[in-house]
Amino acid sequence: MRACKKCLMIYDEDVQRCLLCKSPTTENFTGFFGVINPEKSEIAKKFGEKLKIKVIKGKYALNVK
Ligand SMILES: [Zn+2]
Repeated sequence: MRACKKCLMIYDEDVQRCLLCKSPTTENFTGFFGVINPEKSEIAKKFGEKLKIKVIKGKYALNVK
């Protein structure tokens, strides 16, 4: 898996650029969590505020290097 360096969205191996923000993706990330219902998730809300992104349904890395 690969994670976007900017918004931390997780993608498959072959995705070199984030489909949302067009930033490059990296294999160097640690941990991830899934967002199923961004509207109702406190974690998703805090995460979005911290990164200044709109969190959508999907997987996000906890940290990228
Ligand atoms: Zn991105």
